[in-house]
Amino acid sequence: MADDADVIVVGGGLAGLVAACEVADAGKRVIVVDQEGEQSLGGQAFWSFGGLFLVDSPEQRRLGIKDSYDLALQDWTGSAGFDREEDLWPRRWAEAYVAFAAGEKRGWLRAMGHRIFPVVGWAERGGYDAMGHGNSVPRFHVTWGTGPGIVEPFERRAREAQKSGRLTFKFRHRVDALTMTGGAVDGVSGAILEPDPVERGQSSSRKIAGDFTLRAQAVIVASGGIGGNHDLVRKNWPARLGQAPKSMISGVPEHVDGRMIGITEQAGARLINRDRMWHYVEGIRNWSPIWPRHGIRILPGPSSMWFDATGRRLPSPLFPGSDTLGQLHYIMGTGHDYSWFVLTQSIIKKEFALSGSEQNPDLTGKSWLMTARRATNKGAPAPVEAFKSKGADFIVRDDLESLVSAMNALTGDNLLKIDQIKAQIEARDREIENPYVKDTQVMNIHNARRYIGDRLIRTAKPHRILDPAHGPLIAVRLNILTRKTLGGFETDLDSRVFGGDGKIMPGLYAAGEAAGFGGGGMHGYRSLEGTFLGGCLFSGRNAGRAAAKAAG
Ligand SMILES: Cc1cc2nc3c(=O)[nH]c(=O)nc-3n(C[C@H](O)[C@H](O)[C@H](O)COP(=O)(O)OP(=O)(O)OC[C@H]3O[C@@H](n4cnc5c(N)ncnc54)[C@H](O)[C@@H]3O)c2cc1C
Repeated sequence: MADDADVIVVGGGLAGLVAACEVADAGKRVIVVDQEGEQSLGGQAFWSFGGLFLVDSPEQRRLGIKDSYDLALQDWTGSAGFDREEDLWPRRWAEAYVAFAAGEKRGWLRAMGHRIFPVVGWAERGGYDAMGHGNSVPRFHVTWGTGPGIVEPFERRAREAQKSGRLTFKFRHRVDALTMTGGAVDGVSGAILEPDPVERGQSSSRKIAGDFTLRAQAVIVASGGIGGNHDLVRKNWPARLGQAPKSMISGVPEHVDGRMIGITEQAGARLINRDRMWHYVEGIRNWSPIWPRHGIRILPGPSSMWFDATGRRLPSPLFPGSDTLGQLHYIMGTGHDYSWFVLTQSIIKKEFALSGSEQNPDLTGKSWLMTARRATNKGAPAPVEAFKSKGADFIVRDDLESLVSAMNALTGDNLLKIDQIKAQIEARDREIENPYVKDTQVMNIHNARRYIGDRLIRTAKPHRILDPAHGPLIAVRLNILTRKTLGGFETDLDSRVFGGDGKIMPGLYAAGEAAGFGGGGMHGYRSLEGTFLGGCLFSGRNAGRAAAKAAG
């Protein structure tokens, strides 16, 4: 039987698009199959904030940030905590990826028209020692145009290849099996789903209208992770984090269902580090949801006070923006699935950013005027103000007593005592006047303000939380929000997949989240942020180039 293409890519998200562009540009024929409709092309990346981990970039240098490959690798390995035999390939991928981020990543994207917002963000700041978790310097580069801005160059390249006949899209084609001949993967089969005109990101019909089989010399699995499938998240939940949360919200669309991971594993591929995941603890329920249980992650600045469900302040260094996994670990240990930020209007205005392209119309719409208002406006950006007034997790009050009583009413748990909360806030507030601070969160705020980017748009001037001049007071109930899958299919640096017997499976490649962003988990346990889109770019590129080369 003749092949339908040289290479088949499963998944039209960022990793799949990048891989397909590389195959087509190498002069080979490629088919991209995706279970969703054409309107959802780009997958999760379209919805993303477009944050990219870059090392020693011109944007960093302009802001006086000194970064290097060595420093970034030190931070990466300190965060990853590789400690398993199966971390061999993830570790190699980590080294190669940090070199990519310090080397050709920016120039490669720039040549395709990609641009970066000039103020570099500082995510995952850690707070342990120099070899521990966290970014020693700001490295989170936001794409000008956010998620759509990172998808655009690859969609453009793909559409050009489509016009010239080298690339074919097959939307509403759901892969149900990999086909194999003589031990080599040589195609896919599955169901054709009925057309469905839902909006991008909404759940689409799973009604079957037909079936299909496609053959090629190689198949690249770029089907994303498991974050939209809470049953799978719970099944893979690591014992070290305690019981899986009873209540979670979803930071990804429902198509991030993990189904293709099971299918690929069944064909013999080796899935490693499935217990490593990256879920956020600052999730808020979306008042205007697109997908089921839709939650948004707050990208917090350093000043909000963070309390657990019982009213205890989170211990140092678990401040907003410091250590996502450490915070998750702590919160799961409280026996409750939620925690609280308590802050002021001055803090929300400057420090709350919401992760997601639709939540940042200024950056997504590439409007300098709107973006400049972040620094000059009286209120927070409009999407944040909308959450403040309409979001189910937000409480706004003029005095602490009524704030705490509304917090108790929201959860119905009645765990918070006004005196306990008040004493902790007043103690912290006394440290604001003190130049020789002992409160590590306040020290952290002073440190953040030494960076011009934070001082300009991310860190409020230190003030007392109970100072009415900075009010009203705001409490935000924070939920656990599923997002990224850090483990995945074990791959070599050409993105070739290993089988359960430790040998490369001929014809099979994996990229993006399905491959743990490279190697089966290049992040180890923790991410430095902005590393997921980049992991899709790097692993998709490697997969596409290698598969095209192997196709002869
Ligand atoms: C709101 C949001 C904000 C984010 N912000 C950032 C950020 O700032 N920086 C960062 O680095 N990362 C960010 N991320 C993460 C990043 O966007 C994702 O990790 C990345 O885009 C995953 O890409 P992917 O191609 O691997 O998978 P996906 O985008 O999930 O694409 C997989 C595709 O495969 C298809 N598929 C699955 N199974 C099948 C099957 N059986 N048959 C056919 N098709 C199938 C799906 O329909 C989907 O289109 C964010 C994510 C979200 C949702």
